[in-house]
Amino acid sequence: MALLQIAEPGQAAAPHEHRLAAGIDLGTTNSLVAAVRSGQAKTLPDAQGRHLLPSVVRYTQDGVIVGHEAREAAASDPLNTIASAKRLIGRPVSDIKSLGGSLPYEFVDQDSSVPRIRTVSGDVSPMEVSAEILRVLAHRAEETLGGELSGVVITVPAYFDDAQRQATKDAARLAGLNVFRLLNEPTAAAVAYGLDRGADGVHAIFDLGGGTFDISILRLNRGVFEVMSTGGDSALGGDDFDQAIAEWIMDQAGIADDADHKVLRQLMQDARRAKEVLSDAEVAELDIAIPGDGRWQGSIDRETFNRLADPLIRKTISACRRALRDADISADEVREVVMVGGSTRMPRVREKVGDFFGRAPLVDIDPDKVVALGAAIQADVLAGNKPDDEILLLDVTPLSLGLETMGGLVEKLIPRNTTIPVARAQEFTTFKDGQTAMAIHVLQGEREMVEHCRSLARFELRGIPPMVAGAARIRVTFRVDADGLLNVEAEELSQGVRAQVTVKPSYGLTDEEISGMLQASYEHAEQDMQERKLAEARVEGMRVVEALQAALASDGDRLLSNDERKPIETALEQLNQAIAGNDADAIEEQAKNVEKVCEFYVERRMNSGIQEAMAGHNINEFE
Ligand code: AMP
Repeated sequence: MALLQIAEPGQAAAPHEHRLAAGIDLGTTNSLVAAVRSGQAKTLPDAQGRHLLPSVVRYTQDGVIVGHEAREAAASDPLNTIASAKRLIGRPVSDIKSLGGSLPYEFVDQDSSVPRIRTVSGDVSPMEVSAEILRVLAHRAEETLGGELSGVVITVPAYFDDAQRQATKDAARLAGLNVFRLLNEPTAAAVAYGLDRGADGVHAIFDLGGGTFDISILRLNRGVFEVMSTGGDSALGGDDFDQAIAEWIMDQAGIADDADHKVLRQLMQDARRAKEVLSDAEVAELDIAIPGDGRWQGSIDRETFNRLADPLIRKTISACRRALRDADISADEVREVVMVGGSTRMPRVREKVGDFFGRAPLVDIDPDKVVALGAAIQADVLAGNKPDDEILLLDVTPLSLGLETMGGLVEKLIPRNTTIPVARAQEFTTFKDGQTAMAIHVLQGEREMVEHCRSLARFELRGIPPMVAGAARIRVTFRVDADGLLNVEAEELSQGVRAQVTVKPSYGLTDEEISGMLQASYEHAEQDMQERKLAEARVEGMRVVEALQAALASDGDRLLSNDERKPIETALEQLNQAIAGNDADAIEEQAKNVEKVCEFYVERRMNSGIQEAMAGHNINEFE
């Protein structure tokens, strides 16, 4: 009799059906592939035992070379050796031009929005270059794991926009890969440390590589990471520390700035080696080739290096401060700080980052591999090798989500195609003096006007303290969780009054309906723009009317004679008539006219306000 297999509770039902999956860290300088094997995430080496694959692709007449060999040829064959695909992918030609002449490639002059680079084996796009790198890594994984990959997770910087993400996905498709999903690099690092399984809270991911620095503030909310803010410096990294040491050596050894190129290149390599030695030792010995075949011997100690490093580290800390400010949190609210990138091996960096956040950063996992390892863990879950509830599946929003603002306009908070889960917040204010409630109307669609979008939900925020129009601050947060559920919350910031609603935006919409809505938005783009302009002009006009009427009611009688008041009222009437019409320019013109006619009145109100404030006080008190 055949034995029936019964899985243990919580285990995958069919352990023998383990599906192969890999995580890929597609980096600017180096890339890595990792997979979960026997329950442990590990990066996979090539046949020579090397884990890192330089992200360099060389095109020759005989074919394509990827990795170490390509990198070695970069100096001798710069035009055909592409080393910056990640900096170019998903960016239009105009952006690439602004990157400056620093790129040694020959770009094909063409109208297309995708840049193409001329090589001996034809023109290639950055997407195709990335596809070559992905192909090599996927092949390595399939060789090592012994079968075809069911899918991959590829990491991208948190700040990558839609186009850059889409182009990365397209590169993977071109390489014949099934992309389970793209994962933000900082999120992958957090997953590698298991932070997704810990308590909800805010984490900082500090990523200092060879040439770039990124800081990301993530919030873990019910098992899902949201990017609260990102920051950094795309031109700050380990290379700058090498440079600082090299300059110090030149000073000590009396090497001039204009020394031979070869001497300087060797010097940079020696400086880098010394820097890396100083991560483990107190002193690094130096034996430097100087111009004229001589040598200079000396040493550099940690204290000297720290002095050279501190100004650079200070720059990273300033960026951390800015990122925290953008996320509206303080350093002591950060639960864990994750270190990513080879340069976080420097003890001084760890020390200063620890001082700033008030806690020792997490450094146990190799900072070069942590992103790939997190991606591998995620890929393993998405391949179905773990119970479903471990990490939630992510997707993109099919249509934009937004809310109704004055004038029947839709303000989009989450554009279509945004990867979910996502959270976006925006502040709104009251339109009328003393307004104590706000109607929140949640909409889905691409069009500009409410009537052309799909209404998802309405709710009210009540209990706003009465203030003058424009003074209240209401933060509306849209959160789409991994299942596509939208939660909208409105909060009045001075008193913390809140209201919220949850909807399932994609509910009931078929693919055809979604494409129909998109089609309509393209067809009506011009008309929508006109309507938007008119609606905005009306809102602005009405704001002027409201403000002026309120002012006249409060002090018009006291500050204006009848003769002075007449032209103001005429201008107000003309503005009201324009608002009733359909001409946006006419409304703007009349609103400007009101402001001009009222100039003297506004000034008089200000003076009267100052006099009231000063009544009974001595002028010196105000200085
Ligand atoms: P990544 O781009 O993340 O691979 O980082 C590479 C950078 O890390 C280079 O600038 C290396 O010099 C630097 N790096 C690697 N190992 C160390 C180390 N032990 N100490 C200091 N910097 C290191």
